[in-house]
Amino acid sequence: MNVFEGKVALVTGGSSGIGRATGILFAQRGAKVVIASDKNINGGEETVSLIQQAGGDGIFVKADVSRTVEVEALVNKAIDTYGRLDYAVNNAGIPGMKNDEEELDHVIGINLKGVWLCMHYEISWMVDHGGGAIVNVASVGGLKGGEPGMELYCASKHGVIGLTRVTATTYAKRGIRVNAVCPGTIDTPMIENPPEGAGPDFSWAEFAKTAIPMGRMGAPEEIAEAVIWLCSDSASYITGIALPVDGGIMAS
Ligand code: NAD
Repeated sequence: MNVFEGKVALVTGGSSGIGRATGILFAQRGAKVVIASDKNINGGEETVSLIQQAGGDGIFVKADVSRTVEVEALVNKAIDTYGRLDYAVNNAGIPGMKNDEEELDHVIGINLKGVWLCMHYEISWMVDHGGGAIVNVASVGGLKGGEPGMELYCASKHGVIGLTRVTATTYAKRGIRVNAVCPGTIDTPMIENPPEGAGPDFSWAEFAKTAIPMGRMGAPEEIAEAVIWLCSDSASYITGIALPVDGGIMAS
């Protein structure tokens, strides 16, 4: 199972949810893991302690993915600590539930510019050191529209898929694969709150029973499995895809 023995993975937004599950799974498969997050420091340290409990090796780095100096320092810290960078999962993101100018800068700054910045520094290193694999966490909201109020979130995630596709073709001959996963509705802190306009009795679990073909929300571990597979050599001929992991949402 230790397919990532001797390898190093960087996971942004790893203090909870999908990023935490991905960091732990990387460690269980043998990788050393760098977990990054901007605010939830306790959560990030908790992820590292879960990695250690699983017999793995990891560090937490506080970094805001929308800030150039912090992303550069994050990638440098990963390389200084473990000597290499083989995989990067650009997962940090926020929901964005309003449709105004301030929110535009905020959501695009983290969800889209953040992925662009991370890839810039990750690829700068990988391209000179034998390549690597990158997975960007987009959303089904990057493949289709959503409810009113989700304009900026969907725009940011459509952008992530566009960035993924062009970056994948740019580096296809240089040993770097770049893919996106598109989660559906996943049971993480991101969906703690009901959507805008929903009544006080709203429940995501009840919503999922009718809105999702499989009749349930996904677990963060189910996204992590897809991410890990895309990073692994089992996916060696796959680059530039946007893979829905959504219980059938995109098929309905
Ligand atoms: P989450 O809230 O548990 O995780 C988001 C993580 O991003 C947290 O660790 C948070 O601290 C971090 N983060 C936020 N802003 C940051 C910044 N500026 N710099 C660094 N880190 C930052 O939610 P999640 O569901 O695990 O979300 C992970 C990714 O999955 C996001 O990109 C999200 O858009 C995407 N996604 C989630 C769902 C879902 O239903 N939960 C669906 C589709 C896509």
